[in-house]
Amino acid sequence: MYLVEGADKAALIDTGYGIGDLKGYVETLTEKPLIVLITHGHLDHVAGAGQFEQVYMNHADITLAKEHSMVEMRKAAMRNSAPQLLAGLTEKDFIPPFTGEFLPLQDGQTFDLGGVTLKLLALRGHTNGILTVLNVQDRTIMLGDACGVGVLLCLPESTNIEDYRANLINMQHNEPLYDQVLREHGKFESPCSVLEDCIEACDHILAGTDDAVRTEMMGLVAYRAFAVDEDGKRLDGKEGNLLYKPEKVYASNHSSKSK
Ligand SMILES: [Zn+2]
Repeated sequence: MYLVEGADKAALIDTGYGIGDLKGYVETLTEKPLIVLITHGHLDHVAGAGQFEQVYMNHADITLAKEHSMVEMRKAAMRNSAPQLLAGLTEKDFIPPFTGEFLPLQDGQTFDLGGVTLKLLALRGHTNGILTVLNVQDRTIMLGDACGVGVLLCLPESTNIEDYRANLINMQHNEPLYDQVLREHGKFESPCSVLEDCIEACDHILAGTDDAVRTEMMGLVAYRAFAVDEDGKRLDGKEGNLLYKPEKVYASNHSSKSK
């Protein structure tokens, strides 16, 4: 999650798993009127939205967000990723799912927080509705789960590699607008070259020349474009990497890649 404060308003970007009193915590950080921007409908980004009123999200992710906000789904994910944390929680620690109407959020939309402008930029791939957030004055872009060290394109809601590549190329037009890249997992920062690295990964996958390392994660099998060491770093020292499924490589579905 990120909290951005301007002279008039503050924006909370994403709401995490929805555990504990997120709103109370945010109120210790800012007294400004708050808007909430959800980058995409996954449970680790949207599930805390239930505590807030003005919540914006791309409507392309609404079905996904509703499913992912369910307490049972959040528990199931934590059983996998954080069983000890889950064991220490009670029912009332879970923020109930958001029941209001998500305000629309789309590519190109801007928010003036008072001296701070946030601009939403689409980078479809990880999900259909995923948006990145450009802080115009800070020349910083928050790519979130849309582009990073292990972009998950192996999910049922992900796009194919060919389409994702086209969206990355489109995002390159925005490169003159930023010189810092933030993410929402791992070490939270990447060099700007992460975008080109992911384009390179797509090129290799499409040409069949990627490392295609078989990986099991969250109960599904996926292929990692570039081999990594035990810390998850690419062996060649570059940053961007992605996980995909061979049957979702090409835009036309009659030519899936054999593995
Ligand atoms: Zn995600």
